[in-house]
Amino acid sequence: MSTATHCPYCALQCGMNLDPAEGTTGVSVTPRQFPTNAGGLCQKGWTSAELLRTPDRITTPLLRGRDGELHPVGWDEALATITDRVQRIQAEHGHDAVAVFGGGGLTNEKAYTLGKFARTVLRTPNIDYNGRFCMSSAAAATNRALGMDRGLPFPLTDLSGADVVVLLGSNLAETMPPAVQHLAPVRDRGGLVVVDPRRSRTAALTGEPGGTQGEGSQGVHVQPVPGTDLVVLLAVTHVVIAENLLDQDYLAERTTGFEEVRRSVAPWWPERAETVCGVPAGTLRRLARMLAAASPARGGRGAYLLTGRGVEQSTQGTATVTATINLSLVLGLPGRTGSGYGAITGQGNGQGGREHGQKADQLPGYRSITDPAARAHVAAVWGVDEATIPGPGRPAVELLTSLGRPATDEVPGGPRALFVHGANVVVSAPNVHRVAEALRRLDLLVVCDFVPSETALLADVVLPVTQWAEEEGTMTSLEGRVIRRRRAVDPSGRARSELWILAELARRFGSVVRFDTDPAEVFDELARASAGGVADYSGLSHARLDADEAAKGPGYFWPVPAGDHPGTPRPFQDRFPSVDGRARMVPVDHYGPADDVRPDAPVYLVTGRVLQHYQSGAQTRRVAELNRIAAEAHVELHPLLATRLGIDDGSLIRLRTSRGEALARARWSESIRTDTVFMPFHFSGTGSVNLLTSDATDPISGMPEFKVCATDLRPAGAV
Ligand code: SF4
Repeated sequence: MSTATHCPYCALQCGMNLDPAEGTTGVSVTPRQFPTNAGGLCQKGWTSAELLRTPDRITTPLLRGRDGELHPVGWDEALATITDRVQRIQAEHGHDAVAVFGGGGLTNEKAYTLGKFARTVLRTPNIDYNGRFCMSSAAAATNRALGMDRGLPFPLTDLSGADVVVLLGSNLAETMPPAVQHLAPVRDRGGLVVVDPRRSRTAALTGEPGGTQGEGSQGVHVQPVPGTDLVVLLAVTHVVIAENLLDQDYLAERTTGFEEVRRSVAPWWPERAETVCGVPAGTLRRLARMLAAASPARGGRGAYLLTGRGVEQSTQGTATVTATINLSLVLGLPGRTGSGYGAITGQGNGQGGREHGQKADQLPGYRSITDPAARAHVAAVWGVDEATIPGPGRPAVELLTSLGRPATDEVPGGPRALFVHGANVVVSAPNVHRVAEALRRLDLLVVCDFVPSETALLADVVLPVTQWAEEEGTMTSLEGRVIRRRRAVDPSGRARSELWILAELARRFGSVVRFDTDPAEVFDELARASAGGVADYSGLSHARLDADEAAKGPGYFWPVPAGDHPGTPRPFQDRFPSVDGRARMVPVDHYGPADDVRPDAPVYLVTGRVLQHYQSGAQTRRVAELNRIAAEAHVELHPLLATRLGIDDGSLIRLRTSRGEALARARWSESIRTDTVFMPFHFSGTGSVNLLTSDATDPISGMPEFKVCATDLRPAGAV
């Protein structure tokens, strides 16, 4: 029988059917109609069934023995070991001595249960998740400006109706290929704008040759100096205001703070901006005029501004997203049908993963953990005294680098035990030398995973968990659409769901708090906990999602505050969910990257993805066909830079930053700036780009500056 579910990887959550594969115990994948993918899949989706039968699947708990090796043990021994060691650590060092690190690929039910487990069983504030690495700057900026962080506050399919779509730091054609079809009509109208230092596959869709910034028939490719996207936005906003292209009525009725923003962009006239960001003043003016002409206020079909990790993973990521929102507000876009601002969520459940209590500062329903009303509401659902719910914990980078750290007069001690669920931090975190060193200081590392990731191989206890097609649950797509994940095959070996593992640990810890293991029951509790919050799921249940799928189409856009509520595809139409119902404009300014180029590190290093791999590559590097196409890291660099440095195409390069060294093969490309090199981040070992990246973080969101640092590079044989 066919099972209708969704791809295990990215936040596009392409619809697929899983059918029994003839002559095997596995399944075969076929795409199905779902609004985001409209029948398409990328290579990762097509090959995803291979994940279910990967030869090195972890099928039994593993415990590190006195010989230093991981050995198979039974569930009872593994869980008893964890319980005993955590209790001893907490008895000696306090509740805060245990930390939890979650993932944006966990189902909503798992993410919710993980937050509840950390706060009611472990009683620790120290929980955060890998979404801090990818969505936190957009979340911080949109919560502050618009009162709500829902990546796209409109259906993805709306994009196709616009005159102009600006993609800032997003390479959709490589990360989410089926999404590109929604941009095709915009491209045909000449309205696709891509801001990226590389002429990525997405930038190439603009039709502009060689990454220049001249007139293109299908759009504009803007190639700023890495780390200066904010300047592009400040300058375009300057032009919109200076040329009186703004929407005065909208600003008066729906926003606050315009005067402060007007003053803040006044110094960024295009000729000055050009000297910083390298984008010709004429291009900046052209962008402003294109956007204004597309705005509904001037009779256009509409315009969208969309940010991705390219501009967000920066020490000024929150400021850059804020500037993007400011620009959209002066043009009167958010809340207008056919227009708006959105952030393109990357991880499979990067949206739901940040709504249900995995974040250091949040409770379920996207509520602040410091809000007394939110604490009281969630405490009542959990059946605990609200005073026992810990306050905010440390954000991801601070948490990971503090692990095992002894207390000194200057800094508090770090956690001595860590649970990792659905993350591979020794590949995905910035400056991984520092993170690996911190993990080695721990007294106990527990990793739940279904493959022996690089992080699992460092653990004291590894717990085998079910994966996507083996489990029931819900995910929330990049549009804020709550959808069903369905089970098509039996779990492999002795793998168990995290819901069972956490409930069993809670029982062994003597917790009186109830932990359900049935995903539908966990969802019902999650929905109650979210009631009245920004991300309100209280009108939903698995049964409603299943029953309505055939009748009305797939999923519901949150908020869904009642059982008969139709969902909210476009939440800003009448008002913004802020105290006064208005969007808040916030002035920001450019201060540049933390690790800027200098004589001993004269080249910008930017990171990103390739089509074949997802996140740290722990899953996709195990799929033979994907690995055959992209088996190792490479360094994309311009032939002019390569020639100057004596680097041949295909030769091995040594890259060196103040954090470490990496080795990868050169790939000449005229698509990148001559002052910049690119490396994908899916690889481990000497080809791991995160040996090089900076762990400087955005002061508001805590997001690390993956996207730009300064590097030296030379042929591998040179000293
Ligand atoms: Fe779709 Fe993303 Fe899966 Fe590719 S990886 S098939 S774009 S959900």
